[in-house]
Amino acid sequence: MMKKHILLIATGGTIASKNGGEGLAPALSSEELLKEVPEVKALCDVDAVQLFNLDSTNVYAPHWLEIAAIIQKNYDLYDGFVITHGTDTLAYTAAALSYLVQDSPKPIVLTGAQRSVYLRDTDARQNLLDAFYYCADGGSFGVEIVFDGKVILGTRAKKTRTRSYNAFSSIDYPEIAIVREGVPYYYIKETKPTAPRFYHALDERVFVLKMTPGLSADIFDWLDTHTEGLIIESFGSGGLPRYEDDAFFIRLKRYLDLGKVAVLTTQVEREGSALDKYEVGRRLLSCGNVLEARSMTIEATLTKLMWLLGNFPREEVFARFDTPVRKDIL
Ligand code: ASP
Repeated sequence: MMKKHILLIATGGTIASKNGGEGLAPALSSEELLKEVPEVKALCDVDAVQLFNLDSTNVYAPHWLEIAAIIQKNYDLYDGFVITHGTDTLAYTAAALSYLVQDSPKPIVLTGAQRSVYLRDTDARQNLLDAFYYCADGGSFGVEIVFDGKVILGTRAKKTRTRSYNAFSSIDYPEIAIVREGVPYYYIKETKPTAPRFYHALDERVFVLKMTPGLSADIFDWLDTHTEGLIIESFGSGGLPRYEDDAFFIRLKRYLDLGKVAVLTTQVEREGSALDKYEVGRRLLSCGNVLEARSMTIEATLTKLMWLLGNFPREEVFARFDTPVRKDIL
């Protein structure tokens, strides 16, 4: 069988870090990373590019567009893509790429590590190897994270541990596969799409507001003028507080009247929102055009709204928000 041709896109993160005296910072190049996993050469033909070398704390929308652009530029030349990335915002990047590169029949596999590949005691080598094993497998496609032997859809991942090797969880959706000793075992088999669709814009004017008890609605003074989309991470199943003056409700209505988009979600990690359950939530649904994230992760909700606002007229944003993209909303 012909060896697969894979492009490694390195972007930084702990996986490629060294301690330069002022704390860990990305320092290793894509070539140096590859040298740490010589087994990969026997598995596939690899080229490597260093797109940037950042702690992923510094990675945001322009970088997501850059990654999507390099994938598009090289799409016909390779069978798959492995992206090494810091773990802190890896789930955001994976979600963003799931919207920027849709229906890809080729795999776009993100990975990282809790400890530098440079250390003897590290998860980096195994994660990198697993990412290549999975990427070279005939069954993989689309945007996925491979980490600690688990394969998680790019739309369903969340960093849930800051130190353990088991850093990522698939939220309210099963891991779609595991990788054991170089072999992917698929729990969920989907039909491979045939043609990718690339998007080139994201509207960054989206704000995530985490409700805390007693928060003032004066925050809307700023939101009204600086944002086009608002995601309210409310409590429990979801709803807005009345407090003394019902200001949140009044200000949210005004925000919507300005032609902006609001999404209600929950700050609870699992099981999603259900606005129709309580009176505090139902009142919101009565506003008509409030969207509800339901089972979506906050990473997917944020990047989906950026993608929708950046690419479609307002009227379409509402219908498209509820249309699933790679199982982001169930
Ligand atoms: N701060 C690092 C980053 O996200 C953490 C990591 O990669 O694990 O780039």
